[in-house]
Amino acid sequence: MTAQTLREWFTTFNAQYFGNTLPEPHFVVNHAKRTLGQFSCHKVRCGLLPGRWKTTGYTIKVSEFYHTSDHDRQSVLLHEMIHFYIAYTQTRDTSAHGKVFRQWMQRLNADGWNITVTSRNAMLATVPTTDKQQYLLLAIRLSNGKCYLSVVNPAYRHHLEQMIHNHCQADEFHWLRTNDSRYAGWSAVRTLRGKHITQDEWERLMSETVIL
Ligand SMILES: [Zn+2]
Repeated sequence: MTAQTLREWFTTFNAQYFGNTLPEPHFVVNHAKRTLGQFSCHKVRCGLLPGRWKTTGYTIKVSEFYHTSDHDRQSVLLHEMIHFYIAYTQTRDTSAHGKVFRQWMQRLNADGWNITVTSRNAMLATVPTTDKQQYLLLAIRLSNGKCYLSVVNPAYRHHLEQMIHNHCQADEFHWLRTNDSRYAGWSAVRTLRGKHITQDEWERLMSETVIL
């Protein structure tokens, strides 16, 4: 994936979903581990009237750290394009991933995309669009190379994240969301307990599951 790839996808989606309203932003492909995508712009004052401003310096960054599919990366790009559209049209939303953002997200996901919101609070507030049970997974790779997977009680996500940072020799860890019924029999943990998984299972998980 290159900046040119993002530009081509952007041009298609801008026409398909946003009525070609968005100007072309600056594109960056990076290797960020924590942030799959990012939209940024500058707010500048516009004239002397208070409260008048415009946005400029639009940048969209998409990470290629994970070996995910184009479809997932396009979903990340669309997520950032929703932020862009809201900023560009100076639409007020209830929060970063508020009502307006979610309406867009649902509309696009109904068209087959995989757009998710990443913040913990936003995630907990998400109203499931299907009756299928959703599972929050935590995948951890320790410094000795061993990989562990657990189903986590979502209310304990932040707590577990703290525990990883404080106590655990983790090389990397990821939060994932799935509605795969194979996890139905797993009990949701509130502490750092997981099942050992093989490297192959780890790779498959990273390629098939929605990474938050
Ligand atoms: Zn976002």
